[in-house]
Amino acid sequence: MDLIIRNAQIFDGLGGQATHGDVAVKAGMIVAIGENLNGTGAEEIDAGGLSLMPGIIDSHTHFDAQITWDSTLAPSSSLGVTSVVIGNCGFTIAPCRPRDRDLVMRNLTQVEGMSIDVLRQGVNWNFESFPQYMDAIEQRGMSTNVAAFIGHSSIRTYVMGADAVERAANSNELGQMKKIIEDGMAAGAIGFSTSTAPQHNGHAGVPMPSRMADPYELEILVNAMGHDGKGIFMLTKGAQTEVSFLESLANSSNRPIMIAALLHNSTKPEATFDELAAIGEARGRGHELWGQISCCPLTNDFTLKSAYPMEGLNAWKPAMKVQGEDLKALLMDPDFRKNVKDELLQPLDGRLFNSEWHKLELIEVNYPKNQHLEGKTVDLLAAEAGQEPFDWMLDFSVSEDLETLFTAVLLNSDEDAVGRMIRDPSASVALSDAGAHLTFFCDAGFGLHLMGHWARDLGAITLPEAIHELTTKPAKIFRIPKRGKIEVGYHADLLLFDPVTVARGAKHRVHDLPGGEARLTTDAVGVHGTWVNGVQVANQNGIIESDQKPGELLRDFYK
Ligand SMILES: [Zn+2]
Repeated sequence: MDLIIRNAQIFDGLGGQATHGDVAVKAGMIVAIGENLNGTGAEEIDAGGLSLMPGIIDSHTHFDAQITWDSTLAPSSSLGVTSVVIGNCGFTIAPCRPRDRDLVMRNLTQVEGMSIDVLRQGVNWNFESFPQYMDAIEQRGMSTNVAAFIGHSSIRTYVMGADAVERAANSNELGQMKKIIEDGMAAGAIGFSTSTAPQHNGHAGVPMPSRMADPYELEILVNAMGHDGKGIFMLTKGAQTEVSFLESLANSSNRPIMIAALLHNSTKPEATFDELAAIGEARGRGHELWGQISCCPLTNDFTLKSAYPMEGLNAWKPAMKVQGEDLKALLMDPDFRKNVKDELLQPLDGRLFNSEWHKLELIEVNYPKNQHLEGKTVDLLAAEAGQEPFDWMLDFSVSEDLETLFTAVLLNSDEDAVGRMIRDPSASVALSDAGAHLTFFCDAGFGLHLMGHWARDLGAITLPEAIHELTTKPAKIFRIPKRGKIEVGYHADLLLFDPVTVARGAKHRVHDLPGGEARLTTDAVGVHGTWVNGVQVANQNGIIESDQKPGELLRDFYK
């Protein structure tokens, strides 16, 4: 035996109570489970009564770029994650022609909040096609398991060039895209991903390419994905995309559909529940639709140089095209301000920001003389200054050379509502967006948050239910074989934790990106070890520095 973890409370992932015992591992697989197992392991661990569960499957990440320079996929494995799905929302970096690399990186900068300098220094472009990308990341190795979507926006840019952000595809282009998806599925993609969401804008505020697709294009491509009876279609849905249309795609392709990002919006409190109900009705008709939700309040840290919460507003678009002094001049322009304020008068379903000024907080000023303002909300600061909140925010930011840091808790902040979403039978808890939005937020510890905050502290669900939600359930939805469960014959992806303390820690800044740039991260609380395919990759102090890369690129999925 390579490893025996003894004296643990074992949650198998199926949702039932824990049983006490030992788990033995050989060649990366679970080979025995029971009380006082015979034999000795090359490594023996006394869990001391702590809890052991399958490693967390994080089905919504954006590690596509990071994985080319960081095989640890920090910080996920330190937070109990043993498998990630990359390439969500259609934002992938393959396929990509050499001439489009800078465009793809600039788009990621905008849409996923990654610094262009980090990407230029970090991404290793040793591939062009999607199958080549798969081979390249597999060869480099990884310390968690990785499954990859093939992404619509990259495919469009590859086939249509500059026209990808202008129009729907013609039949010739559709044929080429179809072929790329079929080849991608044959190379082991987990499915096909796209976005129709209005907040998904690329470089200079131009829509991400997938948003230019018409329903016919989506139908052709989703059917191409499902051609061999495999794959899951994932999309981040704009309000204009109807659940009924997605149900028709599930019907024609006979494949499951994961619908992101269902976040609770207090200005439209029933909207998310209406969507979940529509998804539930489709499921009742035998079509496997899932609503992807988050168990974390959606916070964004931002400056007005890159004001993600505002970028869903049409009237904000001009601000995404200019920088520096030009941006300052625009922000002081009365016409620009009037246009934004007019648009904000009309609350909009699915829009990130709806004039909830009390949810915007000033967290870091640029000049020490302003320090006394930190920690106050924008509505309060504006009232003190006798100004409208929007005017105050712009005036103040310009006076601070646009370096003022704000945080916005815009969505998913109503805990009664989020608890109700978590319990919805059509919902799947994910949406960490790990690997993206690195300067805005870090929800890579969403699994620990579900177990600690929602199960233990609030009792919204039970701990075994939370564990099921993070392990066996996503393994099943995504058709990942032999993972997400503690059972003999399954891969030894394991998480040892203390249910009394398990949580995600406070967010803080670290400077470990290429070029020493900063990102937000959170530390685990109550995690004692993470094992991927039987090899320990993290302990209570975080990721273990090592040359071992026990993760596998997952290429085989069941039907
Ligand atoms: Zn995403």
